[in-house]
Amino acid sequence: MSVTNVRGTPDGSVADQLLRAVLESIIVIDLEGFVTSWSTGAEALYGWSADQAVGSHIDRLVTWLGDAPTDSSMLLEMAARGEGWEGELELRGRDEARTVHVRMSPLRGEDGSVLGSVGVATDVSRRTYVEQQLAASEARFRRVFDESPVGMVIIGPDADLHIQDANPAFSTMLGYEPGELAGQPLATVSAPEDLQREVELGLAMVAGKMPYYSIERALVRKDGSKLIGRSTASIIYDEQGEVLYGIGMVEDVTEQVAARETIRRQRERLDLVLESAGVCTWEVDLGTDALELSDNAAEVFGMGDEPPPADLSSFYAHVHPDDQHVFRELLPVMRSADPDERYTIDFRMITPSGAHRWIRQVGAWVLDEHGEPVAIRGTAVDATERRAHEQRIADQALIDEVTGLPNRALLLDRLQVGLRHLEEDGHLLVVLFVDLDRFKVINESLGHRVGDELLRQVGARLDQGLGPELTVARLGADEFVVLADEVSHVDGASELAKQVHHLLQAPFDVAGRAHHVSASIGLLTIVDPEAEPEAVLRDADAAASRAKARGGGHVEVFDPAIRTAVVARLELEEELRRGLAEDELVVHHQPVVTLEGRIVGFEALVRWEHPTRGLVPPGSFIPVAEQTGLVLPLGRFVLDGALRQLARWRVERPEAYDWTIAVNLSGRQLAEPGLVEEVREVIARHGLAPADLRLELTESMLMSGQHEIGEAIGDLRELGVRLSVDDFGTGYSSLVYLRRFPVDVLKLDRQFVQDVAHDQVDRAIVRSMIGLAHELGMQTVAEGVETLHQLEVLRSLGCDAGQGFYWSAALPAEAIEQHLLGPSPGSAQAAIVRGTSLDQPPS
Ligand code: C2E
Ligand code: MG
Ligand code: MG
Repeated sequence: MSVTNVRGTPDGSVADQLLRAVLESIIVIDLEGFVTSWSTGAEALYGWSADQAVGSHIDRLVTWLGDAPTDSSMLLEMAARGEGWEGELELRGRDEARTVHVRMSPLRGEDGSVLGSVGVATDVSRRTYVEQQLAASEARFRRVFDESPVGMVIIGPDADLHIQDANPAFSTMLGYEPGELAGQPLATVSAPEDLQREVELGLAMVAGKMPYYSIERALVRKDGSKLIGRSTASIIYDEQGEVLYGIGMVEDVTEQVAARETIRRQRERLDLVLESAGVCTWEVDLGTDALELSDNAAEVFGMGDEPPPADLSSFYAHVHPDDQHVFRELLPVMRSADPDERYTIDFRMITPSGAHRWIRQVGAWVLDEHGEPVAIRGTAVDATERRAHEQRIADQALIDEVTGLPNRALLLDRLQVGLRHLEEDGHLLVVLFVDLDRFKVINESLGHRVGDELLRQVGARLDQGLGPELTVARLGADEFVVLADEVSHVDGASELAKQVHHLLQAPFDVAGRAHHVSASIGLLTIVDPEAEPEAVLRDADAAASRAKARGGGHVEVFDPAIRTAVVARLELEEELRRGLAEDELVVHHQPVVTLEGRIVGFEALVRWEHPTRGLVPPGSFIPVAEQTGLVLPLGRFVLDGALRQLARWRVERPEAYDWTIAVNLSGRQLAEPGLVEEVREVIARHGLAPADLRLELTESMLMSGQHEIGEAIGDLRELGVRLSVDDFGTGYSSLVYLRRFPVDVLKLDRQFVQDVAHDQVDRAIVRSMIGLAHELGMQTVAEGVETLHQLEVLRSLGCDAGQGFYWSAALPAEAIEQHLLGPSPGSAQAAIVRGTSLDQPPS
């Protein structure tokens, strides 16, 4: 190639032409820096055409930029010395700056002398940019890798899956120093079972089955402990599609997993509890009506195998039509109530078999963050059994246990209904109060079991015999009530009473024995719808008592006079209660005297010093006291007063040591447990002996057959208390009781004494009673001796003692002392006066 040194003009030689055609940027400059050749590549690189460039000084064409290691003058000097240069330069041609790789070589003539310099340049600007970007990206990635809180690990594609790199988070997570894990096989940090799984997943990824996977797996720390990591892995390929490495991101989720596990277990436990308790849970979205149910819901709601309803309307389809209103009414109620409040409703579901099932549902609002209700959530249980149980209890409260008939409460309810209907239909309401006669005797002599069975049979016979339109109820004891609310005429009422008597005529067979039952019936017809049910029953009861007083088996039609008597009785009870509380009761004493006139004791007789009515005799309040139980405190008071008085007399007068004190006992007192103990205690309290006390019992008490009474009498005897039979001869004709309960004294009733002087029959009776007593080793006291004549006859008949106005009425102790006993001890016999207590002794 010959290149002539012609400044500013291309030489046009073949070499030059070749050179210029070269796509590489090749330029030739002479030793002074003028361009002699400018290839096509140089045109592209520097932006000047060959015409512009050739002949120009290089410094006009190219600006050296940056801290260029060299400049044109230096390069020209080197060229003059025949030296070459190679390196990268930053320079600008006509327009943009470029980074250029330049190789300068000296250009020699044929003689070897240096003519100039040839520069071959390659534009490296593009390459550097890519490399810079790569480096920057690499650095960015590195920072992410190093500083990420998430563990990152890069795993090689070799068989052992070696860890190529692990970031500090990953190393720290597993207890390693940063960098310590590089080069370790993955098995170092992986639990064997999970490693196997990861390998399989990795292979599946490589096979293109999935782009990445994410699993929770156990990892092993350096100290051998385990943690649960959530690792997400993917594979990085090169341009040829070969696996470069796998990359995994691992997060320690041990705590989350544990927490999740705890929640799961709690849930399971809760589910178990709910399920075994038969409780299901549900939630309704208020916006969509979607219904979410726990698994056991179908079972609780009794839906069988049907798919559980997914929304509210399909749920309602299973609810009993009569109960759907419960739900309709619920929402408004809930909306107006406190949002925290729970509600409970009962409703019926219809099961696939058509049966009803009661459900008890408890629910409450589910509120959003603004406190607005978004759902309702709650529980439900099968309440069928509970309802049945509650129903049974409710029934029991209205049904008499013995007979299965309506009880008092239900009767009052029906009575109320009947009264209300009176207004409308103009019928009569008829109430029969049926009181069985002598039932107590059966009950007490044959036992309660027999008694109950008899009551049951009586109830059943009345109920069946009278038909379903009438109500037959049992009030208690031996009292039944028949209620008829459709009677059109008064005659119908008396017919009904006859029917009841008729139904009871045939004997009842109880425990293999036939029992005849009669009843006293109180009949009441009501036309006044304003009548009070309680008052109606009271009136009917009063009428029945009247009927009973006539001797049983009778019907008494209620009339207002009866009511007056009843009211009076109630008032008396009230008054007596008050009187007892206010110490208005007093004890008077009536002497018991030998027929020779010597005092042998006293009978204590109670009186009521009424503030307005004056001294009230016991006959008008003892029966009420017995019925109400007031006789118990009253009896206690008399016993105490009588014994206190005897004790006081004994202190004052030696003859009182021969006296006994008689106290009347009522059946009610005898039946009261603890009586005997009480008697023992009072006697002891007053320093007396049991034999100083005589308790007066009536024949009916001795006959009662009631176990408690029999036992009490036996115990009293055993204690040493003496017993008298009061009013002897008026009660039972059977004297069997005298064999069973040996007593000390028979008190011959006043009715025999009254005519003993004139009536042969009475005298005969008295004689035989005295004979009987003496035969049995008992003494006799004649009651109500009023005349000397009576006294003389009694004396002739061998009677032992007497009591009566002939000697003295019952008097207060002071009066006894004043009139009977005289001022000084020892004069008791002398001073017998006729008292003026309550009793009116004949003049
Ligand atoms: P009782 O035990 O048969 O008492 C005798 C009654 O006959 C007394 O009536 C007495 O005042 C009266 N009386 C006595 N002598 C004569 C007489 O010559 N002629 C007439 N016509 N009557 C005479 P009183 O005090 O009214 O008592 C009536 C009944 O009340 C008593 O009958 C007794 O069963 C009962 N009673 C009295 N006090 C008590 C008591 O403290 N407890 C109990 N449970 N009952 C009492
Ligand atoms: Mg008496
Ligand atoms: Mg008497």
